[in-house]
Amino acid sequence: MKESMIEFMKVREKLDKEKEFHMESLFKLIRQPSISAQNRGVLECADLLVTMMKDAGIDTKILDTEGYPVVYGEVLHPDNKLTVLFYGHYDVQPPEPLELWKSDPFEPTIHDGKIYGRGTGDNKGQLIAHVLAVKSLLDLYGKLPINVKFLFEGEEEKGSINLAPFIENHKELLAADIAYTADGPMEGKDQPSVTLGNRGLLYIELKAQGAIKDNHSGNKGNIAPNPAMDLINLIRTMVDDKGRVLIKDFYNDILTPTEEELNHIRTLPFDPEATAQVIGMHKMDIPAEEYYKKLCLSPTFNIAGFGSGYTGEGTKTIIPSEAKVKIDMRLAADQDPDLIFQNILEHVEHFNSASTITLDYLGGVKPSRTPMHLDIVQKVIRAVEISHNKLPVVLPALGGTGPMYVFTDILKIPSLTVPYANVDEDNHAPNENIGIKEYLNGIQTTCVAILHLGEQI
Ligand SMILES: [Zn+2]
Repeated sequence: MKESMIEFMKVREKLDKEKEFHMESLFKLIRQPSISAQNRGVLECADLLVTMMKDAGIDTKILDTEGYPVVYGEVLHPDNKLTVLFYGHYDVQPPEPLELWKSDPFEPTIHDGKIYGRGTGDNKGQLIAHVLAVKSLLDLYGKLPINVKFLFEGEEEKGSINLAPFIENHKELLAADIAYTADGPMEGKDQPSVTLGNRGLLYIELKAQGAIKDNHSGNKGNIAPNPAMDLINLIRTMVDDKGRVLIKDFYNDILTPTEEELNHIRTLPFDPEATAQVIGMHKMDIPAEEYYKKLCLSPTFNIAGFGSGYTGEGTKTIIPSEAKVKIDMRLAADQDPDLIFQNILEHVEHFNSASTITLDYLGGVKPSRTPMHLDIVQKVIRAVEISHNKLPVVLPALGGTGPMYVFTDILKIPSLTVPYANVDEDNHAPNENIGIKEYLNGIQTTCVAILHLGEQI
């Protein structure tokens, strides 16, 4: 048997013996509510996490931010080895509506091979997997073959509002070769995955004000301005009927996908029928390559909501006095939400209309993408494969938005996400859960990643 295989067996045997302890550790964390949105139990949870990390042999401290603190930990190697920064969050979503839970959200309950409770999947089960993996490796070997650092924040469910300035102020402490996040569900049942980025976000609201009150559409038709029409006309100057955005320089900074990324995308699994069903469409006529290009590598311009005038039953003949539209744009690497907002502002200022139009900024997050060809990225992908005995699906970026730009943009290091939770974890929803198998596999995957990056497996 190859030496690396012997090490892998040793780790599996050790983890097998610790199963009970690993389950109990997660239960302890779940029993401590930590709802950042409701200011409930978050500081107590940070303290509990510190104790658990110290018990695991991790040098741990609480670091303040403008909001809830960061729990920081490290296990450093005396020699100058490479460093992995594990990121996760210890806050959870509110549990409401409580009546839809089959068991108490803060009393972990097992049935059908799953652990139910708020935070089991998102993100306590995935975060503590890293801590327990390090504990098991320290028990087994007395040291780690690389440096590990932990950055666990308490405000992810509130949009990570203080994370970027915190990282900006602690660049030296957080210096690492790669950021590793376990969050979200896997790609499918028993299908491990690795994602190398996220789309960003720009959220705006446009308001058009016509007359100071609604008017009779007969008595004042063609005379009073119509803010709904003015907003529609404005939107038509911002995006064409193919969805192409017409804002100045909108596409200028988009990172061209490499030939390698495009080749890779062509190999990704895609079932148009199943995907159409998930979305609730009758059918989907789109080739796999196009699907992933649109979803991962291209920006969007989406009307999230439009409101004006009378939309109730029957007829009401009015010229509405105001209209508003909410627009979200998912941004591809390396688009900059602030720059795009400035260009939209200019665009709106140059648009002539009878209504007065105002633009509000409702939020922005930068996109991030890590190149697939990097040696360290390939090593983590290989580690996930070894742990699962199955090739992971590798996505160049998720369609959704996450705070990973803090690693790629501020710390200037590669960042990847390896979801440990089952595809039906029901995060943010009632009956959130993590499969016992998936949870224990997660601990194993972190062990294998550390050993593989340290060239022990
Ligand atoms: Zn969440």
